[in-house]
Amino acid sequence: MDEPRRVAIVGAGPAGLFTAAALLTGTDDDLCVDIFDRLPTPFGLLRYGVAPDHAGIKAVATTLARVFDAPRVRFLGLVDLGGNVTVPELRGGYDAVVYAIGAEDDRHLGIPGEDLPGSRSARQFVAWYSGHPDATPQPLADVRRAVVVGVGNVAVDVARILLKDPAELSATDMPDAVLAELRTARIEDVWLVGRRGPEHASFTTPELRELLHTAGDGVSVTGCDLGAIDTDALDRRARANVAAIADAADIRSLTASRRLHLVFWHRPVEILGDRHVEAVRLEPADGPGAGAADGPPDAVIPETRPPASGELTVPADLVLRSIGYRGVPLPGVPFDDGRIPNLEGRVLELDGSARPGEYAVGWIKRGPVGLIGSNRKDAAETAGHVLEDLATLPRRPLSDFVATLAGRGVRPSTLEDWRRIDAAEIARGSIRGRERTKVEAWHDLLALVSRA
Ligand code: NAP
Repeated sequence: MDEPRRVAIVGAGPAGLFTAAALLTGTDDDLCVDIFDRLPTPFGLLRYGVAPDHAGIKAVATTLARVFDAPRVRFLGLVDLGGNVTVPELRGGYDAVVYAIGAEDDRHLGIPGEDLPGSRSARQFVAWYSGHPDATPQPLADVRRAVVVGVGNVAVDVARILLKDPAELSATDMPDAVLAELRTARIEDVWLVGRRGPEHASFTTPELRELLHTAGDGVSVTGCDLGAIDTDALDRRARANVAAIADAADIRSLTASRRLHLVFWHRPVEILGDRHVEAVRLEPADGPGAGAADGPPDAVIPETRPPASGELTVPADLVLRSIGYRGVPLPGVPFDDGRIPNLEGRVLELDGSARPGEYAVGWIKRGPVGLIGSNRKDAAETAGHVLEDLATLPRRPLSDFVATLAGRGVRPSTLEDWRRIDAAEIARGSIRGRERTKVEAWHDLLALVSRA
């Protein structure tokens, strides 16, 4: 009898786990699926990107985790492709390899002052409040005014976390140190800055409404004339966004203790400060252009022009750029424009020729856009091609790859290790009356990993 076909999935985030599930349901053949991750914890962005106060979305983890119940699926943590394992080595161990590595970097503004202390990426901020073991501490003591650049859902998340009363966040899984730091902030003003109009913002309406609700009667809008927007010409989401902003702006109160300022048709041109961020200089913008050093090439310059509006200098103790994520190349794998080049998930060489047996899924396949659920369809497409190709792909593995790794001292963490971490987090949380409190330090995570 033939050995079962072996597929490696690199990345145990939603895209990787949806792919594993699609592979298993798409075939009656014996198939062994090994899911690798750099961390000893599965769920990727669901665990370290979805905001801690969005427990409903996080519950998707329960569905995704079911894939580990299949006897031929293994979770192999602490395996860093391009680090302790090379791509050719992995390729030699599997009939097919699926890259589900996400987009771990972020775009830069390319403006003076961007590297001043107090100017950071929203990605770093999200990793910190989500308890990612690689996150750097985010000092917030005395932060009163924050500017968030970008008007996508990540910008909305970080603005909401800043504006929320920390007491409201205490029921989440945020690490204790994060909650303590958030309590030291004295947030009064959060500015959200878009280089186009409210009708072009990429945030989705439920997320926008939640932010506006958090800010209550302290919402102001600058840089655009909401009444002049031709809402009939807009799609449903843009129309609903404009309506939600107009409703919130109508009940503006000058006495609100925490205020949200929505600024449109402006882009930052300089972050000012001596030894720390002190202010951001914003110039009127008509969409992407000069200053969009690292912006997406496909951003559309709309035909409508902004109403005349001047330069603004906004005082700030913290600047978070939230202008999109960016993929990181894997040594030995083609990479172009922040993604692995592919045709419907089948990896291509840079010259467009086929690269049999290698696949991509999720943000590294399609770019850093889409909600968690978008990965299901994306994964179905990639998994379909893997299954189709397995019929003709050469049989590669001669032995179990994990045994090969052990032979040279690399011992992956297992599902049981993750279950121990999970149980420790639940126990930590229950002491404080919470569902879970994240274990965020590498040494604490590794202490829960059995290397016996
Ligand atoms: P995004 O939706 O692409 O938003 C990026 C924002 O940055 C846009 O407003 C963009 O403006 C702006 N931008 C880009 N380059 C800029 C520059 N050089 N100067 C000024 N502004 C610039 O990305 P994201 O917020 O990182 O989110 C990534 C994906 O995750 C999205 O699909 C999002 O919906 C999803 N997500 C969902 C949730 C949720 O709760 N449902 C939470 C977080 C993330 P232009 O439009 O003008 O380019």
